[in-house]
Amino acid sequence: MKNISRYWIVTDLDGTLMDEKYDISPAKKTLNKLSEMDIPVIPCTSKTASEVRYFRNENGLSDPFIVENGAAIYGNHENNSSEWELILGKSYKELRIILTNISKEVNYQLIPLNDLSQNQIYELTGLSGQSINRALDRHWSVPFLNPPDDIFENVKLVCKSYNVHVFKGNRMSHLLSNESHKGQAVNKLKIHLQNQDVKIIALGDSQNDLPLLEYADIPIVIPGKNGPNKYLINGIDKGSFKLANAPHAEGWSKSVEDIINSFKDL
Ligand SMILES: [Mg+2]
Repeated sequence: MKNISRYWIVTDLDGTLMDEKYDISPAKKTLNKLSEMDIPVIPCTSKTASEVRYFRNENGLSDPFIVENGAAIYGNHENNSSEWELILGKSYKELRIILTNISKEVNYQLIPLNDLSQNQIYELTGLSGQSINRALDRHWSVPFLNPPDDIFENVKLVCKSYNVHVFKGNRMSHLLSNESHKGQAVNKLKIHLQNQDVKIIALGDSQNDLPLLEYADIPIVIPGKNGPNKYLINGIDKGSFKLANAPHAEGWSKSVEDIINSFKDL
């Protein structure tokens, strides 16, 4: 990664750069332009490192990446293919025990993704085969089935006493340490790469992106087909977040192109 860029694009994947079929094709041209301009594209996602390594290979990305909702950060050492790793979170094992305890306290069985059968995971995520194995390769967060809204609110309250927090994604919720979220991870990456003046252009679509959008210099909300996520509407209404004018990769691409074009005018 060339560490001279004044801007980083930090982007969520599911629902933001990818649609529900995991397609990013409307953004390919823009990704190529960013690569030509040496502007890093840093995935920042609830996905696992295994999933993001695969995604980067498929799409020719080589910049650092933030996984499991900000619980861990990876990147390649310069001039060789080995990886460095920064950990912000609690271990999967520790979080599994906490999830069981929270289930008891809210009197509702919270079901971890990793306990589902391959068929159930396919129904929920559309993933199959090796993609499921990559998605289950968790180390620093526990995804679980979205509980009903009222239960989710209780879970949030109970979390405080365990020093953990929960985020609700489109397909599932995630339990992770209080020390890790997407915003904290970007800050840690800036320090690690000694580029604290870099400006962050962030793109996200869900509640788990709030800490990233709040941390960013230029925060952009990508809507779904039925408009923006309810947790992000407040920030849009206040004028803190920009709303892209199309869903997923198409909105992503248009928003990023607008910003790149404004650089050219400078
Ligand atoms: Mg998302």
